[in-house]
Amino acid sequence: MKRNFFAAVIALICAPGALAQPSDATLRLLERNNMFEPDIIQVADDVYTAIGYQVSTNTMIVGDDGVIIVDPGQQVAGARLVRAEFEQITDLPIRALIYTHGHGDHVNGSAAFYDPDSGIEVWARSNYGSETARVAAAGLTGGARPSNTQGFDLPPEQRISVGIAIPPQRPVGNQMGDGARAQVQPARPIEPTHTFAEDRIRLEIAGVTLDLVAAPGETADQLYVWLPEQRVVFAGDNFYQSWPNTYPLRGTARRSIRDWIRSIDSMIGEDPLHVVGGHTTPMLGNAVEVLTNYRDAMQWVHDRTIEGAKQYMTPDELVEYAALPEHLAELDYLGNYYGSVWGTVRDIYAQDLGWFDGDPLNLHRESPLRQSQRMADLVGGADVLMEKALEAMAADDPLGAAQLAQHVIRLRPEDPEPKLLMADALAVIGERTFNAPARNYTLSSSNRYRRQAAEAE
Ligand SMILES: [Zn+2]
Repeated sequence: MKRNFFAAVIALICAPGALAQPSDATLRLLERNNMFEPDIIQVADDVYTAIGYQVSTNTMIVGDDGVIIVDPGQQVAGARLVRAEFEQITDLPIRALIYTHGHGDHVNGSAAFYDPDSGIEVWARSNYGSETARVAAAGLTGGARPSNTQGFDLPPEQRISVGIAIPPQRPVGNQMGDGARAQVQPARPIEPTHTFAEDRIRLEIAGVTLDLVAAPGETADQLYVWLPEQRVVFAGDNFYQSWPNTYPLRGTARRSIRDWIRSIDSMIGEDPLHVVGGHTTPMLGNAVEVLTNYRDAMQWVHDRTIEGAKQYMTPDELVEYAALPEHLAELDYLGNYYGSVWGTVRDIYAQDLGWFDGDPLNLHRESPLRQSQRMADLVGGADVLMEKALEAMAADDPLGAAQLAQHVIRLRPEDPEPKLLMADALAVIGERTFNAPARNYTLSSSNRYRRQAAEAE
């Protein structure tokens, strides 16, 4: 089934008129999807993590007279499948749900694990839901950018990956007939019944001793769960096998990399054997090594960005200056599947220094139209720009083609031809882009230009 799906995707990508060969980026992202085959992984004694049933991982910890669920997941239907799998392992009743943070992909399926009037405790931090509340306060809830970056607007052959979770179009059980729609219309989560404002609290539930530890990072309301007996740390979304998403391209979150680094440091301090991340398969037996590399990589990028910024380097220059050293760059779990090193560099700059990149010319910006007019005047007119753009495309330089076509689009907003070229160029650039959100956004933009060109004709 899995192989058939990949074969179908590659066949579509290679269809007549489409791209001749899938890029390395496409092949690597398709390969990545193997991680999300539905599976129940035994992490340690009495600890079971479900992957591939929902976009986030969901864990059951088995105690003496009941079980604890960490992150029920995104959808009631998907969470029911996970519950049925867990009930094959034990029929002990559910005593508690723990939310690592308030994102819908971790909590919206909670009703599937919640039996009313059975005294189930639902635990979260006291600032639970703070990111959602901030986005709502800014009036930024919804909009096209989140679905553009997650790939929900793309046709199936382009919608191959979200980087850290099952691709949105893959049917899992019976709950994702139309993954895109299901993901944007989630159920309402069960609200927490218990919250804590301390840095750390110790709980005894169903005979299990565990700590909940405040761990701001991917969200301000993040916590990790520490299970001292089995030495397992549940990192929520402060860890998954990808470069951390310190800046989501959808643009509605503000995340502190310094907090995130401190929270990873705190997890390392527990001396864990295993780390269960929020979206990818657990890392078994090597948690300290993995988390240490994760922390060191973030610290490196942070320190180099700040150091270079003090030397008048602009974000474009810092992307090179703060790139990871080879021994970290080669680690698959630090790959730019979801977050990206370049995005983190730019975000550190934006958060700490703001929009001004230090280039004095950027205090005196001309309008985009004026800049394009200058370029046209320089080369001998918009026709020459268009000619050069087509030449670049023919020479397999789609970025050059897109940059030149953009000038022509500004100068001739009614002309479909440069928009069509832009659409073609972005399709190639997107297909070669490894970072899944950037790829999805680029391909969505390509499709948008193609629609505009068709409307103009
Ligand atoms: Zn998540």
